Amino acid sequence: MPELPEVETLCRQLQKMICGRKISASKVYDDKLAHIKNIRGKTVIGVERQGKMIDILLDDGMSILIHLRMTGRLLWHESADKPKHSRWKITFAGNNLFLVDPRRFATVKILKTVPCDPGRDIFKKFDLTNFIKSNGCRKTKVKILMMDQKALAGIGNIYACEILYRAGIHPERIAATLSEDEWEKIFGHAKEILKVAIKKRGTSISDWRDLFGLKGQNQHELKVYGQEGSLCLICGGKICRIKQGGRSTFYCPGCQK
Ligand SMILES: [Zn+2]
Repeated sequence: MPELPEVETLCRQLQKMICGRKISASKVYDDKLAHIKNIRGKTVIGVERQGKMIDILLDDGMSILIHLRMTGRLLWHESADKPKHSRWKITFAGNNLFLVDPRRFATVKILKTVPCDPGRDIFKKFDLTNFIKSNGCRKTKVKILMMDQKALAGIGNIYACEILYRAGIHPERIAATLSEDEWEKIFGHAKEILKVAIKKRGTSISDWRDLFGLKGQNQHELKVYGQEGSLCLICGGKICRIKQGGRSTFYCPGCQK
């Protein structure tokens, strides 16, 4: 599933391609998206990331809010033919933007533009003191908390594993047992890891492709995710995998306490 770096990559690429351009047509191929109406003739005035969602802002105060979920992709397509698994097409004077989504879980909402809560986003107005005040006494395991979109926007399984590994924090630690220093470490590494991932246009281990259909390069930066049985680059011990909330967590028992 696309996380913060992948969605940020798409938003930056979309900004360059569609900002200031008028929607000349919209065609829905999937009944699940039949509610997409009345966007023809409107101009895109901005593209912003809201957590893991893409917010396309229109000139009439409305937003197209896209959540890609499992296999959704946005694809900039120059030719007229329709890519396989297309669910929706928006046309900008000769250029087409397709929502391609084999498993059809992606959602699209057309609604009044609402500014997202920037306090939950570590690249916006995130404030560590506020975060600790609201979440620092929770009895939730730290990795589950980091993936809770109500607490923190944009972080999912891959980056939560990587961040906790670099911070040396065990994924099953209860949030309430973490010191301020440990939270600082987590968010310091989070910023660093996510910045690199944005620069590398995301992690392509399965479906992720950018707006132009290209793979990201951050999969070569992963130190622990998907590395069960490999040797830890820091201590030489074996990387382990456990299940947390139905997802695989990868960690090093030697380095993460
Ligand atoms: Zn280790």
